[in-house]
Amino acid sequence: MSVPPGSGWPGDPAGPRTPVARGPSDVVRLARTANAAQVAQRLSVCRACPRLVAWREEVAQVRRRSFADEEYWGRPVPGFGDPTARILVVGLAPAAHGANRTGRMFTGDRSGDWLYAALYRTGLASQPHAVSATDGLRLDDVYITAPVHCAPPANKPTPQERDACRPWLVRELQLRWPRVRVVVVLGGFGWATLWPTLRAAGIAVPAAAPRFGHGVEAHVDGRTILGCYHVSQQNTFTGRLTEPMLDAVFARAVELARLS
Ligand code: SF4
Repeated sequence: MSVPPGSGWPGDPAGPRTPVARGPSDVVRLARTANAAQVAQRLSVCRACPRLVAWREEVAQVRRRSFADEEYWGRPVPGFGDPTARILVVGLAPAAHGANRTGRMFTGDRSGDWLYAALYRTGLASQPHAVSATDGLRLDDVYITAPVHCAPPANKPTPQERDACRPWLVRELQLRWPRVRVVVVLGGFGWATLWPTLRAAGIAVPAAAPRFGHGVEAHVDGRTILGCYHVSQQNTFTGRLTEPMLDAVFARAVELARLS
């Protein structure tokens, strides 16, 4: 069960006539010619990965007990933020009961609590909380996307699912790159995925991908790629990632965006 396109869900970019990708070759074809609005429309109805389609819809039907009365989005989650952003944030994938429920990146879960609070403290978000698509949150100079747009079981997409979803991010990078100055990558999965994605977008990258680490900076085509531990509970509960560490990354991103 998922929200039908065009049924009035707040912020639903798609309609009943939006073309649906039913396999990886469809994703390639539909992403290649899309403008920014069409990327959001088309990926939000994508059905190219059978395992992920089944999982996201099952989660939306079964639901967590605390959200039993809520309707779940249950579809791929498009990027969210300032369309003219100089700072791009690349995560991993939507959370089953977070963005897969609310339909907006990092909204409605603990990871998002950490991320948006940090963006707010850095002056990049209008409020520290993100609970639903109608909570009024606005981002300034930052845009959030992911290499995989459907919630995966155990937060682990397969290599085939990662590769199937890549054309959506390739197209987003092509469209946003002229404006982007900094890419903040949350976690090693996003970091490893970004390099071949940049290359597929026609952007020259080093032959060997730089090693991921928190605070690591790499330089590509006049932009900075900035590593950051993921805001997962695994990192924030254990103290591997602290609020000052997260704030320092976004303060650096703002500094780099303003310098360039
Ligand atoms: Fe489509 Fe990406 Fe979701 Fe696969 S993960 S179904 S390619 S949006």
